[in-house]
This record gives sequence, C-alpha cells and structure tokens, in this order.
Amino acid sequence: GEWSLSDKNVYDWSSEEEEPDGRARPVQVLLVKDDHTFELDEAALSRILLAEEVRDREVVAISVAGAFRKGKSFLMDFMLRYMYNHASEGWLGEADEPLTGFSWRGGSERETTGIQIWSEVFLVDKPDGKKVAVLLMDTQGTFDSQSTLRDSATVFALSTMISSMQVYNISQNVQEDDLQHLQLFTEYGRLAMEETFLKPFQSMIFLVRDWSFPYEFPYGQEGGMKFLEKRLKISENQHEELQNVRKHIHSCFTNISCFLMPHPGLKVATNPHFDGRIIEIDGEFINNLKVLVPWLLSPRNIDVKEINGSEITCRGLLEYFKAYIKIYQG
Ligand code: GDP
Ligand code: MG
Repeated sequence: GEWSLSDKNVYDWSSEEEEPDGRARPVQVLLVKDDHTFELDEAALSRILLAEEVRDREVVAISVAGAFRKGKSFLMDFMLRYMYNHASEGWLGEADEPLTGFSWRGGSERETTGIQIWSEVFLVDKPDGKKVAVLLMDTQGTFDSQSTLRDSATVFALSTMISSMQVYNISQNVQEDDLQHLQLFTEYGRLAMEETFLKPFQSMIFLVRDWSFPYEFPYGQEGGMKFLEKRLKISENQHEELQNVRKHIHSCFTNISCFLMPHPGLKVATNPHFDGRIIEIDGEFINNLKVLVPWLLSPRNIDVKEINGSEITCRGLLEYFKAYIKIYQG
C-alpha cells in the first residue's frame, strides 16, 4: 500500500509508568507543574524526533487540544488505529476489539495539563511521492480558574505553534467562550513568534462532539462548515468585541474548518466497564468516524508543518519546540 511504518512493533498500550520496552506509548513531553512552571522532557522529545528514520523527514504534526474528559484520547486511539492499519479499508478493525493507545478511561485518569506525544512517528508516502513523518500529539488543559487558564493558554499556544493541524475538541456547541479562549490562546502564541506577512498558523479544525442539532446542520464536514460560517460571521451590528474575536481567529489560520460529531451513545459516555469496542458505540458515531479520521489523516490530506513559509523536518521541529518553550519560561 502507500503506507509504511517506521516501526513494526505491536500496537498495545501498557502503563505510562512502565519502563520503555520498545513498545509505542504516549510520552509526556511537556508538563505543567502545580506551581505553574513548565517542564520540558527534552531527552524524551529528542529520542522521538531525532530517531534516525525520521529526523530528516519533513514533519506533519497533528494536535488535538481542549479541556479534559471530552473524548480527545478516545478519538486519538482511533487515529492510531488508522495509522497502524495503513489507512486500509478495514482500518476500524474488529467489532469487539478493545481500544488501546492513549489513556482515555475518564474516572481513573490523573488530570495532567500538558502535551503528550505518541512515541512512534509514522512514515507516510504522500501521493506526490514525498515520504513524510507524522507525529500525533494529545494536549490537555483545564480552562477553569484564572491561574489554570494561563497554563492552558500556554499549552494550547505551544501546541498550535508546533502543529500543522490543530484539532480544537469542544463539547456540544461552539460557544462564545470557546472562541474567546481560542483568541486568548492564539494571541499568546502569536506574541511569541516572529512577525511576518504570513498567517502564523496553519489548519484549525473545530471538532464539535455530541452535536445534537443535525436537523439544523447535518453531521460531518459540510454541515460543520455551514455552522461555523454562521458562528464566525462578522456583521456591522455585532458588538465590537464579538467582531474582534472573529477577525482575530480569521487572521491567525490559513485554513479553518469544522466537523460535527454525533453522540457516541450511553455506553461510551457513562459505562465504567466500556473498553472501547465498536460494537458498543452508536452506529451514527462510527459512520462519522469513518469520514472524520481519513479526512484528518489520509496521505493526500496531511500537510507538512511550515514556519515562516518553510517546510520543517522533525529535527527542525525539535529546535522550534525548545526555542518557543524558552520564551514562555522567560
Ligand atoms: P479526554 O480527557 O478529553 O482525553 O477524554 P477521554 O478520551 O479520556 O474520554 C473521557 C470520557 O468520555 C470517557 O469515559 C469516554 O468513554 C467518554 N467519551 C469519549 N468520546 C466521547 C464523546 O464523543 N461524547 C461523550 N459524551 N463522551 C465521550
Ligand atoms: Mg486524554
């Protein structure tokens, strides 16, 4: 097929605390500590980005960001499945296969603000013949009190700065405060970057979970775009503040899109013994997952990370990551 993997390891997630045994796993590369300082695990990040097969490859960096307990890791595990199954027809796997990868079972999860990266970087052949490295990032914030909002802003800003695609995972709707957060976060990012005539960031995807008005705007990307157009519309009679938020968001990203996801069903949302098998997930959710994941990750849709108009390799991304973090630690 068009895909190849950088590593043939069996995809199976064990505990994060476990010593690296060659198996791929999520690695906490950025941690926001209780005293609101940031810790970058430079050694871990270097191990991932400077691995021989990937370091000189141009990088596609996909980030999923948003508040806790909104199904980000659950989604990322399906993204991993797609990558490990080489984007094949049957990438979703067996109906009774438990879902593994990033830790996603709500109740027991420790709430860590920061950035996790999947330790395996995937090598993908684009249709134009270029082989690129695909990096998956899971980013979490708290978005509640003033002090943690600042932490979240930094984490969100950093992940937006180093990704080629930021998936902003939000629950039920795009509320005015989701937009305000996005404005604050991207402003944090933009201030730390060199000024150019280019838009500072690449793709922003608003991913709305548990969308419940499909009769107004249908599930998926087209319904999402129509919905978002309405939400981000600037009009004369709007309050100046509302206009400014919208202008700011438009000015930050080269591409902005939206996808409306249905609710996955009560087993997913409430059953503590649910292990992610698709037989227990609502069919409507699965149907949309089959559209969403290839839309985000198919070899023809992924874009290489660019900074100031130049394409970046894994090695380059590591340097930017370190430089950007210094600014926030400053
Ligand atoms: P994260 O903290 O954003 O990474 O959230 P998780 O992926 O760990 O999921 C938190 C809880 O939400 C788990 O119990 C999941 O089973 C459940 N969940 C996953 N996806 C969805 C969704 O689309 N809607 C709802 N309502 N719950 C979900
Ligand atoms: Mg998570």
